[in-house]
Amino acid sequence: MTEAKKMKTIKEIRVDVNKCNGCLSCEMSCSAAHAMPPYSSVNPARSRIAVIIDETTDAYVPIRAGDYAQAECSGRNLYVIEGKEYTECSFCPASCPSRDRFTEPDSGLPVKCDMCESLSLDEPMCVQVCHPGALSYVERQVEVVDAAEAKPHGEKEIGLEYLVKRYGLKDVAETVARMLKKAS
Ligand code: SF4
Ligand code: SF4
Repeated sequence: MTEAKKMKTIKEIRVDVNKCNGCLSCEMSCSAAHAMPPYSSVNPARSRIAVIIDETTDAYVPIRAGDYAQAECSGRNLYVIEGKEYTECSFCPASCPSRDRFTEPDSGLPVKCDMCESLSLDEPMCVQVCHPGALSYVERQVEVVDAAEAKPHGEKEIGLEYLVKRYGLKDVAETVARMLKKAS
């Protein structure tokens, strides 16, 4: 007899592109919520959500930042939507070396949507400000996977993983050790 799959409820952001009007409130509020200190500035270049805009067809597609990809893009797909061609890159959520999207402009570090978990909000900031209802916070049943694998990576882990991939663990560890010595 096969073991019954363990399920759990997760909350995720549902995107209805037909309701998005390109107001960019989501980009501005996300960048404000993740400013240091929170709400001290607004800069959409720091947002973890980007709205892909095609004014000729009135098409707006909000994309939330996903994982950092170390390699250059190798996408070779073209999408045709209502007669207009889009590259695979257009809707890709990755922060990667092939473009600036989802890269913190001052530090060059990748940014990733953390579902606003660091902010203790009832709903993610981008959902709260999306008055046309293009973004909604919904529940979905998913299979339970290994706890370590399922653990969401916070901003610190993402930044450190990026630095380790770029400079190597030894270099990063030595730099942190130097900084600790200086600060003590
Ligand atoms: S706030 Fe909503 S309607 Fe405005 S750009 Fe973002 S997703 Fe689209
Ligand atoms: S859920 Fe939070 S971190 Fe993610 S895009 Fe929306 S506002 Fe930004």
